[in-house]
Amino acid sequence: MFFGALSVADKRIAHIEKQGETRPDANWITPGFIDVHTHGIGPYTAVSGEGAKGMATFAPPTGLTGVCPTLAAESPERLLAFVKEVAELAKSPDPNITKIIGSHLEGPFIDYTHRGGMDKRLVRGADMAEARRLLEAADGTLKLMTVSPEVDGAESVINLMSRAGVTVSMGHTGCSKEQKDMAVAAGATQVCHLFDTFDGRLVEHGVSKPCLADCVLIDDRLQKEIICDGIHVPQELVTLAHRAAGAVHLIAITDSLAGAGLPPGSTFPMADGRMMVMTDVARLADNPESIVGSCLTMDKVFRNLITRFGFTPVEAAKMAATNPAKSCHEGHVRGSLKVGLFADIAIISPEFDVQETILEGNTIYAR
Ligand SMILES: [Zn+2]
Repeated sequence: MFFGALSVADKRIAHIEKQGETRPDANWITPGFIDVHTHGIGPYTAVSGEGAKGMATFAPPTGLTGVCPTLAAESPERLLAFVKEVAELAKSPDPNITKIIGSHLEGPFIDYTHRGGMDKRLVRGADMAEARRLLEAADGTLKLMTVSPEVDGAESVINLMSRAGVTVSMGHTGCSKEQKDMAVAAGATQVCHLFDTFDGRLVEHGVSKPCLADCVLIDDRLQKEIICDGIHVPQELVTLAHRAAGAVHLIAITDSLAGAGLPPGSTFPMADGRMMVMTDVARLADNPESIVGSCLTMDKVFRNLITRFGFTPVEAAKMAATNPAKSCHEGHVRGSLKVGLFADIAIISPEFDVQETILEGNTIYAR
């Protein structure tokens, strides 16, 4: 990190010049943030192309330059329609909104007992025919799929997906260490929201057995998604991940719902009609003890990583931009401040307010 200047020509970073040491009053120039795991932002939900486009339109003030709208377990028909509609958006990008890189399917091949908030009628064993139909409909734009390694047929589907260029993220799982290794051998390279929906350690005769979260934490073959609100993953566990895996192996995500990015205290209706209120996290409006989901945005993620979790700004930029870019196979063209890469940039004030968001050299938000 240093004080300097960056110039842009023809959509790309043309020149970076170091002019001195860092200054506390200067704005940060970071690579634009990329969120590979988000279900909604603003009033928009990732259930359709229309929802995905709304998310990308709402997101630029949060420093977000790239997004993979994420859909949890759904019927085969709705999943197919979603990946098809997102594919159309990804293939004809609007240069004035956050780039829709492709879709992320969190399921439906998910272990019943670790399904978290997913509908129990919609999680199912891994089905090769359905997986092939999804790949065909997505036409190269399905970027991530979350699979539980222990469901029937998982090995074949993980293999099929990873060979087709889809990042397979293992999650919503209580799989054994052997099943985890099988998934890695079949092509899985990522872990879905580490610590959330994971089982704790078993203690036998006073001896703690390593749990799955422990095993994936020290497995450098796996990149770990981590929700950075300090609530879904308490600060101590974020620090544990930082020390055990290092920022290089962590992908900061929001896992946000529609309602994220609305002013604190706003209420927003959930899919079932109940109201939630946006505080530090989305809570049930009439029962604030009850956490509904995340209302993070990536600018808050960047701030939390530095001010609450002790990451350096460079580590925070890696986790919020560089590592997610690699996760959705965009690392060779974006996600870092390097000459020749697309000029995807977030300019952040010392108070962590987004001043400007730039996508491929084009300002998509200015304060
Ligand atoms: Zn999710």
